[in-house]
Amino acid sequence: MKDRDTREPSYTDHPLDMGQTIHWYLTVSDKILDGLAETDRSGFVIPLENPRHLSIDKSQIRYLIGLFPPSAIARSGLRSIKGEPTIYFDKASTPGEPKPTENVSEALSPTAFAPSYTDYQKDPRSSGIESVIHLFEIPAEVDPKVRRIIHAQGFVHEYAHSIITPALYGKDYRLKLTSGEVVEAEELLQRFAGEQEKHTPFSHYSSGYRSSGQKFEDTARPKISVNEELAEAIAAELLGFVYCREEARRFNQFYDRPDVRQTVRDFLSAEKV
Ligand SMILES: [Zn+2]
Repeated sequence: MKDRDTREPSYTDHPLDMGQTIHWYLTVSDKILDGLAETDRSGFVIPLENPRHLSIDKSQIRYLIGLFPPSAIARSGLRSIKGEPTIYFDKASTPGEPKPTENVSEALSPTAFAPSYTDYQKDPRSSGIESVIHLFEIPAEVDPKVRRIIHAQGFVHEYAHSIITPALYGKDYRLKLTSGEVVEAEELLQRFAGEQEKHTPFSHYSSGYRSSGQKFEDTARPKISVNEELAEAIAAELLGFVYCREEARRFNQFYDRPDVRQTVRDFLSAEKV
């Protein structure tokens, strides 16, 4: 294990640089892909534009949505998915202020590309928040198996946002837990924040929003930091892996934070009332 780690510093440690993540995915791609069956479990149809840019297909997208409990799918504001050409993060980018560029020579590094992004809009028919997921083409230099893992993880992360964001910003958003208790969504999200902030950032990516030991309220934009950490925790819960600094947690994502896992599960299985 030590040998593997000594090769990682050839990539920058910047949270927007996927280099270290790609390196780890490559070493474990068969194990991860074993768990990413292609069978469609959901039957949900969501409009998909420009699929040629995607490393996952329609049936895999439906499978990934099917990993979410029906109560979570019912709360998602996702309206469409769009494939887009490759976008890199410019040298001046920070996670809170990413600056996109199409030119790899202006990028933080050749592996600092965006896998996915979500656009939001108010639903004109209600007070809800709708979303469009953009999946950006992953450079051809990346191993095809790894490209698939990156888009699968990116899609589940963005789909999680399509559920979290309406709860985080919506008014009168109440959730009925499986126990029958009805809570304000804000209360449940604050519970997640209070538990998660006692621990290391959930992933390498989310460490760009909250550093170790930092409280959410002390981050530049607390709601965005909570949204990102919860999206990463949900993706880890549903996919069974996370790229984080602590090697012991990559396939055992909640071993040191079972309370966080319980709250993630409570959030996913709750019904909007
Ligand atoms: Zn995100």
